[in-house]
Amino acid sequence: MKSSFTVGHLFGIPVKIHISLLIILPFFAWAFGSNIIYLTENTDIARRQLILNPYLLGFIMAVMLFISILIHELAHSLVARTKDVETTDITLMLFGGLANIEEISKDPKDEMKIAASGPLTSLLLGLIFIFSGSYAPDFILEDLRLIVLYTGQLNIFLGIFNLLPAFPSDGGRILRAFIAQRTSFRRATEIASKFGKGFALMFGILGFMSGNFLLIFIAFFIYIGASQEHQFSNIKSALSDLKVKDLMTEEVKTVPANMSVHRLIEKMFNDKHSGFPVLRDDQVVGIVTMEDAQKIPQDEYHNTPVQTIMNKELHCVSENDELYEAFKLLFQKDIGRLLVMDGEELRGIITRSDVMTGLRVRQLENIEKKE
Ligand SMILES: [Zn+2]
Repeated sequence: MKSSFTVGHLFGIPVKIHISLLIILPFFAWAFGSNIIYLTENTDIARRQLILNPYLLGFIMAVMLFISILIHELAHSLVARTKDVETTDITLMLFGGLANIEEISKDPKDEMKIAASGPLTSLLLGLIFIFSGSYAPDFILEDLRLIVLYTGQLNIFLGIFNLLPAFPSDGGRILRAFIAQRTSFRRATEIASKFGKGFALMFGILGFMSGNFLLIFIAFFIYIGASQEHQFSNIKSALSDLKVKDLMTEEVKTVPANMSVHRLIEKMFNDKHSGFPVLRDDQVVGIVTMEDAQKIPQDEYHNTPVQTIMNKELHCVSENDELYEAFKLLFQKDIGRLLVMDGEELRGIITRSDVMTGLRVRQLENIEKKE
């Protein structure tokens, strides 16, 4: 099942909504709605001046929160674009948003700007909203004024929260970029993730002591994120200087698009491969794996061609790409193999186990060096 779907494009960047958002949005609407009294406390608005149903107000505020997060992520993406770093998509989900920025900028100064752009935009937006809410003309509906003021407060919160140096947050990235100017990127990531884990621990303890489950949740996510970033940067440096062509399989076994699934399964057993690129007129049109075959009942294997079950979405790298790029793509897309293409021509295939072989070889080399 697809966990996120595209709702539109902004500046050419696909904006996606993760299904977790559909669960959390009504929850936020309810939480804001039933706490309207507390929300008005931070403003000069009296509860009785409000006309709209509190849950409708809550719903509008929840939507404003996610629009604010979207603008925050968009800021990251647009600044990244000025540094020639593309964003594949922006996904809105349970814990805010995520701009899928393709590569950490090689230049720490650029990364600092990309990381800082989001929180700074949120802070600026927050100030604008609070200012316009506070100085709104009298004839404006108090409900509207509450929404504007509260959206302002949410943006200030977003800005400050993201600036905490709890790696992999924006603040953590700024910290890493700052340290990376003085030492290696790998060492900087190590230090920044230690900071992140420290913050996670602090949030966790605070959460437990105050019984605030949201804080415990956040702590958990920061901890996982920090560990993962650290691991990825270790892998990146372990795989450095290795190219896709060093570990790819060059003699690729393929299957024709009109081959029956029955024959495909036979071929899988004979060749001991669980996935094949699918060719039509010498062109790669898809990739088919054992899992795809399980999509249809077995009695249809004989009269179903491979092309009806194959995956048409092709994930490709080129021979001269860094092996780390292949590793990242395999994990980000959660797939088993990548096609190595040179334009339209299939040059090879690279699998998860090929990348793992590269990692193991490097580990052995390191042990050898130490001895
Ligand atoms: Zn951010």
